[in-house]
Amino acid sequence: MNYEQFKYQDKSIFLVDMTKELNYHFSELVKSGITKQLNQKKNIWIIVNKKWYAPWIICTKCGHIPHCERCSVPISFHQQTSWELMWLCHICKMQYNFPTVCEKCWENTVKTYWLWTQQIAQRIEEEYNTKTLIVDSDHANSPTKISKLIDQLLTTKPEVVVWTSLLCQPIKQYPLDMIIFLNADLWLNIPDFNVWEKNFHLLYECFSKYDCKNFIVQTFNPEQHSIRNACRMDAKRFREEENKFRNLNKYPPFTDLCVILYKNEIEEKVFNKVDQLYKDLLYLAQKYQMQDLEIYSTPPLIYKMFWKYRYNIIIKWSNVRNFMDVVYTKLDINAKWFKINRDADSIV
Ligand SMILES: [Zn+2]
Ligand SMILES: [Zn+2]
Repeated sequence: MNYEQFKYQDKSIFLVDMTKELNYHFSELVKSGITKQLNQKKNIWIIVNKKWYAPWIICTKCGHIPHCERCSVPISFHQQTSWELMWLCHICKMQYNFPTVCEKCWENTVKTYWLWTQQIAQRIEEEYNTKTLIVDSDHANSPTKISKLIDQLLTTKPEVVVWTSLLCQPIKQYPLDMIIFLNADLWLNIPDFNVWEKNFHLLYECFSKYDCKNFIVQTFNPEQHSIRNACRMDAKRFREEENKFRNLNKYPPFTDLCVILYKNEIEEKVFNKVDQLYKDLLYLAQKYQMQDLEIYSTPPLIYKMFWKYRYNIIIKWSNVRNFMDVVYTKLDINAKWFKINRDADSIV
């Protein structure tokens, strides 16, 4: 069997190992689950976790996701206006070639994925001859929009709803019998040090809040601590393992992190401003002999937003606040429109 079953109250949580499946999107368990639920005229939700509009990479044989060797966060794709594609670390900006072989299992099985909600919905409609509805969860972000959505659900009665991500609160008027996380690994591809925490909470809260009997979690990484401990509903064990990782790789709460964001419509201006500040910061760190302080300038995951280009400077140190006090007295940094987060718990 390619899955394990966990029990929580009267709910069943199935964890499916996708490295053992023939189809990358639909495991045998999901296929038989959909058939069974539809035969009984029950409702199914499929969560795609398509929060970021970027491709993701994964080894389909062993589930390995390439990480930056320096920062231990997933490497991710970045595209500048020249349309030149590159893979890089969004903390230290180290560039990587797209891996032709997996660095863990040495097989030629590393793949780039784009996951489209349309494709998923179409396939379900064709294979199961059923009605689907696609909901972009970002558009269901206010009480008015949610009540409109409930009306739509109750009038059109789709048997399968494909969501881009999970809603924070369950919809009470709409009973559910099966929630499928099509790919729990999508979260693990976000190039940030807190991905495992977000991944864990998303799953954990869904299992505890949603009044649904069956959950299926598909993953290429069934041993990953966020996914496994969420399926076990073991928050304590997750925290212990997460702290081990954070401590080892020097991330909050074991070190301080400051993220300085600069944005502008003109790409060249962004480069110049950030480059100047980066040099000023390096100079100050050297002048005041702040050893071990790490400073990087790097493009964030969302490089362009609302017509503005964005660039980050990331400072990692055991006492970033001290350093920033020096920065504030020596540089006229606020006046230059830099957005400073001295206690960052995320870099995205
Ligand atoms: Zn890095
Ligand atoms: Zn591999």
